[in-house]
Amino acid sequence: MSEQFNLILTGPPGSGKGTQAKRLVEKLGIPQISTGDILREAVASGSEIGKRAKAIMERGDLVPDEVVIEIVRQRLTRPDCKKGFVLDGFPRTAPQAAALDGILRDQGREPARVLALIVADDELRRRILSRGEGRADDNEAAVAKRLAVYKRDTEPVLTHYAKSVQRIDGVGSMDEITARIERALGARA
Ligand code: AMP
Repeated sequence: MSEQFNLILTGPPGSGKGTQAKRLVEKLGIPQISTGDILREAVASGSEIGKRAKAIMERGDLVPDEVVIEIVRQRLTRPDCKKGFVLDGFPRTAPQAAALDGILRDQGREPARVLALIVADDELRRRILSRGEGRADDNEAAVAKRLAVYKRDTEPVLTHYAKSVQRIDGVGSMDEITARIERALGARA
């Protein structure tokens, strides 16, 4: 089988992973799978999952693992994922990472490659609070919560992938960061 790009782009809120994931989509012709986007759509449509997730998301907490794991399991079976995917915002906990390993194994796929954007806290806070689009969870309290949750629940994901994670300096222009990501992918492609 030809090479798959099974990618995880991880990083704290405000690290630019959503933007960079979109660029990888254009470059590699694989879909971006953002659990945040999928959950926001669920909230907007008023589905059962959306009703469960709304208040949790607004206060900056994590939606339960089993909910997002099931979303990703189903999404990865869609035909557009055949050549690979960029996961953006998943896995966000060590149990989600372990579940993803199992899903990829069950689906006969190669293990995911993990790219982690590294940005210091002060810079993150500044970036998120100056963001224009006004997400429901971009207020000061929710941002502080999301950063704390990242440290507590999501940094262990980097430990889970300690052997393979590629760390990328997330400070610089978008183009510089894209170039760093491409170099990291090229280095092991
Ligand atoms: P994001 O757009 O990735 O910043 O996600 C927005 C919000 O959706 C997060 O603050 C969480 O409440 C929820 N969310 C997104 N992805 C996950 C995930 N993998 N696990 C749990 N909650 C998630």
